[in-house]
Amino acid sequence: MKLFSRKKTKNNGLDAGALAGMALDTILDGVIITDKKGVVQLINPAAVRLTGCGADSNAIGLDYGLLIRLESKDGQELAATENPLMLAMQTGRALEKYKGVMIDQQGGRRAVAVSMLPAGAAGAERIITFRDITKELEEEGAQMEFISTASHEMRTPVASIEGYLSLAINPQTATIDERARGYLTAAHTASVHLGKLFRDLLDTTKLDDGRAKAHFEPVELVGTVRLIANEFLTQAQAAKLKFQFGAKDNSVVQLAPGRKLDQVVYGYVDMSFLREVLANLIDNAIKYTPEGGSIYVNVLGDGDRALINVTDTGVGVSADDLQHIFQKFYRSDNSQTRTVGGTGLGLYLVKQKVEAMGGKVWAESAFGEGSTFYVSLPRITGEEYEKRMIAKQNQAAQQEQVGQQSQAVTQGAAMQQNQAQASQTNMKGAQ
Ligand code: ADP
Repeated sequence: MKLFSRKKTKNNGLDAGALAGMALDTILDGVIITDKKGVVQLINPAAVRLTGCGADSNAIGLDYGLLIRLESKDGQELAATENPLMLAMQTGRALEKYKGVMIDQQGGRRAVAVSMLPAGAAGAERIITFRDITKELEEEGAQMEFISTASHEMRTPVASIEGYLSLAINPQTATIDERARGYLTAAHTASVHLGKLFRDLLDTTKLDDGRAKAHFEPVELVGTVRLIANEFLTQAQAAKLKFQFGAKDNSVVQLAPGRKLDQVVYGYVDMSFLREVLANLIDNAIKYTPEGGSIYVNVLGDGDRALINVTDTGVGVSADDLQHIFQKFYRSDNSQTRTVGGTGLGLYLVKQKVEAMGGKVWAESAFGEGSTFYVSLPRITGEEYEKRMIAKQNQAAQQEQVGQQSQAVTQGAAMQQNQAQASQTNMKGAQ
């Protein structure tokens, strides 16, 4: 196969092919070129080193999957349906910097970032590039640790500034002139924003480095989501918005013959993650919907998934922004977001938390026409719900028993100590 064109250049007589070859031999990134079926056609020296295959001749003609074996970052073997490189190779769709762990031919493991680009006529070739990111991850880890510690340390003084400013602007606790009230109110708003930023930053680092993990419990989702949503009723009313739990058009759902309307939908979720996800989505819906608009929250059972939606009739998101809004610190740049305060971390946190619960989140919107944010979570059956509830209750009872036993042991030890002290005092008295 002709991989590089042999065009003559003025470069010391070296042709473009030789120059490309030199680049491939020198770069530190591993490069493997395969045909459409994934059979290796070319492998550069860095890829030989990273895969541990010994020599390029050992790799040419092999399936790429034998050379690039991937695990997830937390050491889980990737199933074929979850292996992003395999999916990209099969579909011919590009893969950009997937971070995972590569197992080399000797069984050694190293953190890598893998990309794949289809190339050649009609995508007949696949170019896989990968590089060792161990050092990068270490640096990222140190950076995250710093952000995490700084956010944690700064939360306390910011909370105290916020508290004192609240006292200063409250007519019942302080007497100040109107001009000062204006300045202090602005300072208070900024301190509330700063407090939220530190909280979000701390949550982000905890989720990114795996310190915050989902703690699952069985939950009936329709009632739970309704309860959480209702907590926002006052906030929505204050913003002069209609707020409703249920379908937007109040329509009677037309079901296919033989299908029942789901009155209850069970899930296995982390309750605080679910609460934070909904709070963020509803808070955004309120923020980005002008007066007179409406917000609808609903839950539906959809086969083995539970589908939650938060719909608003607000400003909407443009198609360009829609691709980025779940990224860290991304805020659409339009007049609405410029006037509405935010950190750009909310939807990133939503995505992290939903994915930690085994779910997916996405949005549908058109600029100026409102938005719907969907959260799809794994659903469990009524029987499974009952079983997990019993297991949860048993676990709670066991924990209570262990707690009581250790309390009894501590009390027993304290009594013994008291008795020993008392008899020592008696002996001293008798002497
Ligand atoms: P922010 O703190 O800026 O609200 P988010 O991560 O929650 O950060 O949201 C990212 C961006 O997505 C927002 O800046 C806004 O442009 C857009 N966005 C989020 N929710 C909505 C919504 N319901 N309607 C319109 N735009 C939204």
